[in-house]
Amino acid sequence: MIPISEALKIIKRETLALSPETIDLENSVGRVLAQEIRADMDLPPFDRSQMDGFAVKTFDVARAPVQLKIVGESIAGKGFDGKLNPGEAVRIMTGARVPNGADAVQKVELTEEENGFITITEKTKVRENINAFASEIETGKQIFETGEIITENMIAAIASFGYAKVKVFKKPKAAILSTGSEIVDISVTPQKDQIRNSNSVMLKVFADRFADVEILPSVKDNIKSLRTAIEKAAKNFDFLITTGGVSVGDYDFTKPVLRELGAEIFFEKISLKPGKPTVFAKLKNCLIFALPGNPVSSVVTFYLFARTALLKMQSAKSCELKPSFAVVSDNIKAAKERDSFLPASLETDKKGKLIIESLRFNGSSNFIAFARADALVFVPQGKNLESGDIAEIFFLQ
Ligand code: AMP
Ligand code: MG
Repeated sequence: MIPISEALKIIKRETLALSPETIDLENSVGRVLAQEIRADMDLPPFDRSQMDGFAVKTFDVARAPVQLKIVGESIAGKGFDGKLNPGEAVRIMTGARVPNGADAVQKVELTEEENGFITITEKTKVRENINAFASEIETGKQIFETGEIITENMIAAIASFGYAKVKVFKKPKAAILSTGSEIVDISVTPQKDQIRNSNSVMLKVFADRFADVEILPSVKDNIKSLRTAIEKAAKNFDFLITTGGVSVGDYDFTKPVLRELGAEIFFEKISLKPGKPTVFAKLKNCLIFALPGNPVSSVVTFYLFARTALLKMQSAKSCELKPSFAVVSDNIKAAKERDSFLPASLETDKKGKLIIESLRFNGSSNFIAFARADALVFVPQGKNLESGDIAEIFFLQ
């Protein structure tokens, strides 16, 4: 049995990076940048009005109300090229260039217009309602670096500097193979001793963000069919996740089959609850995570291990889960010899504190309880968490 930290070290050591490719920016959310993103222009590119109104000299409007002569207009896409003299104002629209000589914009609501003159009814401060030239970013500055995962929020910033296409690392091609003589397709009514295969579709949706995922036809606990399925998957995919058949039962064949096929097995038992019998192996160029069949165990081990490898393959800067913190409400019992990652639901109280509202765990098979979980709570081995303690949590997303 190895500690989780050791398992992660091995995974990172054995996971090789995929090469980059260039894709359309609009398809890039979730992908890992293989280039840096730099500003190719100053933003704003000029002193820009934040309001529809009038560009003025603050000096002129120090004793408002005051009447100024309208000498032109500055609109988005076509600024006023002249210079503002004392006693003058320029009509200006949101987003337009502030003319030379003006040092503030008064909004139209605080003005009254008559016969080519404008009465400014309230004074303005210097720079009021103006976004200064280059105040958001200067030409040449780096905005994002290689290894960052592109999010929806980043798209406008990338688009603004002309990156219609971006270089990202290739996504792993992953396959999911559920094993077990008791499992039937989710569209089928289970007969005696059967259950539906909930793992395949669940793991697919969890993995979709990190890989191009295909669900393979599930196989029974039968050495020959398991062997054929794993051998074929290892040929066609970079990454294989199997579930089931990794414990010590008489019909748990995944490890023997991996050995028969000549796979290198890096670890097969982790000091983790749930998820102890997790296997990490390599066959040819395919990384294999053989996860326990219990649904909650397979999510937890996917989250901790397979996800890390999928991100490492894409050279992501941070591959591991990032901890957040929450207050324990009810005592949580630790396992004696293993670290636990237990599903729980969270709530924010009136003081803004994040509270572990209730554990959503009563056994690794209970995916009904798990369905309402928001995060995994870390319970260090042998160290019970008590009401009021601060626990490390990892959001499930
Ligand atoms: P195993 O890891 O094969 O010993 O399976 C542990 C438990 O998980 C058993 O109760 C299985 O029936 C259940 N299980 C295994 N595979 C799946 C699956 N694909 N979908 C839902 N439950 C499963
Ligand atoms: Mg089984």
